Amino acid sequence: MEMLYHAALVIIVLMGLGTLATTLRQAGPYGRHMTPGQRFTMKARPAWLLFESPQWFSFALTFWLVAPPLAGPSGVMLFLFGLWQAHYVYRGLIYPWRMRDTHRQFPLIAVVMGFLFNLLNGFANAYAVGHADHLMTADWFTDPRFMAGLAIAVAGWLVNFQADTILINLRADGFTSYRIPHGGAFRWVSAANYFGEIVWWCGVGLMLWTLAGAVFVFFTLANLMPRALAHHRWYREHFPDYPKSRRAVIPGLL
Ligand code: NDP
Repeated sequence: MEMLYHAALVIIVLMGLGTLATTLRQAGPYGRHMTPGQRFTMKARPAWLLFESPQWFSFALTFWLVAPPLAGPSGVMLFLFGLWQAHYVYRGLIYPWRMRDTHRQFPLIAVVMGFLFNLLNGFANAYAVGHADHLMTADWFTDPRFMAGLAIAVAGWLVNFQADTILINLRADGFTSYRIPHGGAFRWVSAANYFGEIVWWCGVGLMLWTLAGAVFVFFTLANLMPRALAHHRWYREHFPDYPKSRRAVIPGLL
């Protein structure tokens, strides 16, 4: 099983590098970057549910059945299990349900790639959580890495949730195109949702302190940074009055 874990990590790193190489040239083809006339698509709402779902069952099956913690799950492990599941209940179930424009399409290829990635990532992180020595005792709850990680993760989650809400509300009146988002972290960056997401996963990575957690942080950066840059360019091209001081994704920097 340990070999499978390491193989999963290598594949995730390769997927991250592949994503970075392709999306720096052409943003992932969904939402505003979807290729006109794109064939083989499905509705965005079930697509999100489908491709995020392995993070629940892959993580849960690995943690409880396939490679459970040898000495039984500790309190820290149960906390991290709950945190992971809660995040994906939001991302896979609540977030798509909150979306306004239910007619939006999502390319099938992105659903398949997302599903495979989430399957591997759920397995790798569940295995890592269940087998990390430092997560076996309650001492980890008071470790500075855990406490700092939790504070960073909560801050990131709040920024992300607020940004998701601002974007959703831009279409509250039935409008189906794009407007300039204002408020929250959009004051500083075009991709406030990705900024919050990146901060959240950096916080979670710190709380986990595992190789699988670090690899997922790398993948998140490789996936979201180029897309944030593409959103930023797109806003500047489409809105002549777009706020000049706004950066792409990292306030004051990028
Ligand atoms: P986007 O910013 O591309 O879109 C978010 C939603 O808001 C879409 O429904 C989009 O509609 C709508 N929207 C975006 N900008 C505007 C605007 N200016 N005016 C009106 N509506 C707008 O984000 P993603 O769809 O890529 O991601 C959604 C969430 O999932 C984010 O919180 C993100 O952080 C998270 N995520 C996390 C990933 C990870 O690696 N952990 C990977 C991908 C996403 P439309 O679809 O029509 O463009």
